[in-house]
Amino acid sequence: MAGVLKIVCTPIGNLGDISLRAIETLKSSTIILAENTAHSRKLLSALHIELKNIQLLSCGQHEEENRIPLVLDRLGKGDVISLISDAGAPIISDPGGRLVEAVIAADHPIEVIPGPSAVIAALMGAGLITTRFAFLGFLAKKGKERERLVKNASTAGLALVIYESPHRVEKTLADLCKWCGPKRVVVARELTKQFETFHRGILGQELSPLFVEKGEAVIVVEGGEVSQENSPIEIIEEEIAALLQAKQLTAREIAKQVAQKTDMSSKQAYILVLQIKNAL
Ligand code: SAM
Repeated sequence: MAGVLKIVCTPIGNLGDISLRAIETLKSSTIILAENTAHSRKLLSALHIELKNIQLLSCGQHEEENRIPLVLDRLGKGDVISLISDAGAPIISDPGGRLVEAVIAADHPIEVIPGPSAVIAALMGAGLITTRFAFLGFLAKKGKERERLVKNASTAGLALVIYESPHRVEKTLADLCKWCGPKRVVVARELTKQFETFHRGILGQELSPLFVEKGEAVIVVEGGEVSQENSPIEIIEEEIAALLQAKQLTAREIAKQVAQKTDMSSKQAYILVLQIKNAL
């Protein structure tokens, strides 16, 4: 029998959210790879899943790479291996991505068992325009990348979903206000748990109810119209880099295009193109 890697979602706070399929999958596994075995042992015990015939192995962020040879070997021998994280969907701001990549590259089948994930739960309860959204995960704590990522997604008219630790929420809200303006925002806290709360408001103003630094939190910022006229310079720079890498247009031709769609003169655009070319 061919082995298979099953990627299984587990609850983000409410045990009742585990799916029937997830329980069946975990029960019928020969190996369960867990982000944290102590944590998952409690979950499995609450689900009455005995570990007599199941090997529970750790597969945290720093162990994932080392687990790959064993996983490939056991899949070759026909094992059914489940991958779980501490909560929600594995791989979504959690370990597992490199392992799944290696399993696919080695031509072993994978299966997904979808279920709870904080990103979806937060969007569901936000009550904002989130038809199209960008999931930014945990932002870098500081630096240009943090600002660039937010501005690019926001300028493209996308709603933003950001994972944040509670003691950094206020600082991140202040930054979001600077970069996105006074958009509607919701901080979804303790989703699916006893004290689930949606703190609603506008960036730059107080939330209601007032935010408290407790539990786990997801920030959702409302999406809007795509801004055509005021493309931030970062977006232009990325476009220039992509055109240079495609090697189909000369630097002058790229500069001409840039000048046509921005308020830069041809000379300014050409200097910018040359600067980016030199930095590539
Ligand atoms: N893999 C998980 C998922 O599918 O949502 C996310 C894991 S990530 C390490 C943990 C972050 O997810 C938390 O810091 C928080 O931002 C968010 N999160 C997870 N559970 C949550 C909950 N019950 N309520 C609010 N946010 C939650």
